[in-house]
Amino acid sequence: MAAVLLFAVALLSVLSNALIRAQFTGYVAAQQRAHAKALTEDIARQYRAGRWDLDGLHAIGMSALYKGYLICVDDADHAHIWSTEAHDSTACAAVMAEITARMRASVNGAFTSVETPLTLGGEPFGYAVVSAYGPYFLSEREFHFLGTLNRALWSVGAVSLVASLVLGALLARKLAAPVERAAAAAKHMAGGDYRARIEARTNARETDELIASINHLAEALEAQEALRRRLTSDVAHELRTPLTAVGTHLEAMIDGLWEATPERLESCQEELLRLGKLVGDIESLARVEGNPALDLETVELRALCEGALTSFRAALEAKGLRAAISGGPVEIPADADRLKQVLVNLLANAVQYARGQIEIEIWQSDSHAGFSVRDDGCGIAPEHLEHIFERFYRADSSRSRLSGGSGIGLAIARSIVEAHGGSVCAKSAPNEGSTFTASLPRLRS
Ligand code: ADP
Repeated sequence: MAAVLLFAVALLSVLSNALIRAQFTGYVAAQQRAHAKALTEDIARQYRAGRWDLDGLHAIGMSALYKGYLICVDDADHAHIWSTEAHDSTACAAVMAEITARMRASVNGAFTSVETPLTLGGEPFGYAVVSAYGPYFLSEREFHFLGTLNRALWSVGAVSLVASLVLGALLARKLAAPVERAAAAAKHMAGGDYRARIEARTNARETDELIASINHLAEALEAQEALRRRLTSDVAHELRTPLTAVGTHLEAMIDGLWEATPERLESCQEELLRLGKLVGDIESLARVEGNPALDLETVELRALCEGALTSFRAALEAKGLRAAISGGPVEIPADADRLKQVLVNLLANAVQYARGQIEIEIWQSDSHAGFSVRDDGCGIAPEHLEHIFERFYRADSSRSRLSGGSGIGLAIARSIVEAHGGSVCAKSAPNEGSTFTASLPRLRS
């Protein structure tokens, strides 16, 4: 960046210098051409009534000499009338030498002459020859002015160069500092430390976006890590109880303290079956939470509810329960398999807790649609209600565990509905049954 700045300032200085010089010398050259023309006209005016005014020519010639011009006036036959060189060759040589010495350094030129025929009524009466250093020359004052201008321009260039270097260095430091912090945070994260956050705020939108993305990434990784840790400890906790139970039972039977009756062996087998179900539930949860990507299609909710209910026919009959569906049809964009899993989980709970009746209601509003699963079971106490969607949470631990519940079904249901951009809630009071409602957006987000 410093190199670019340096180059830009240097280029600007050189270009502006060259441009101003070209403009100025162009102006000087035009002035000199005009002056030579005016000299020729002055010379012509010195020819009056067939005679040359030699005093006039002398005055013009000497004044022109000190401005750097040599003149030579001839008559119509090219015979010399008056010339600067013939009049004062020493002064002439001195002026020429002085101008040549001054100009040689900047312009590769030489003294050149322009001859102009002088006419009166179409008849030539002489020739005026004006010589000067070409393509242009500078008077001492002009030369001095150009030198001062040059120096001023170079000084401005040098000051801007230093200023741009200092500013550039400050700016680079300001820009680089947050990027360096972002890199350090990313390095921490690569090492497994997700607590690192970048506090910096800059005036550059792109840098702010980079910082926000890295902070966001850190938050997401930290949440994932916390989830992983909690899941591991929850799973270990859930597995320990049935494993210990089976282990102690088997140990007592092996040691001969307990007789291996069919009932005791069956109890061990039941415990193992529960373990198998728990592992299956954990797998489902991991699948849902690990891959929230949905395979969206148009799903008709009534058909979906009827399909889900069919798989509970046998259980409903066995428990003597009635089930009814109302509302619909309603179509929403959803992942059919996953949404069916939500219904299955809610229905499984309803079937387990209902005393006589289960109602599924399909509803819709302008922006959302969904279903409610209502049962007339024991209900859920308010202190449990706010936790039942947490994984491994059981409101009635002993009863739920006995029935094979792992406390994961509602957590899976919530994950799926939230992945759709929706929400799920429960309304319940002890002995008044429970209603679980899933609400999903009707339009794809
Ligand atoms: P589980 O597999 O134990 O049923 P869930 O996550 O499905 O796990 O439910 C969590 C807890 O919420 C259950 O253990 C139960 O105590 C309570 N619960 C869920 N549904 C109902 C319901 N319909 N009626 C009463 N309690 C319920």
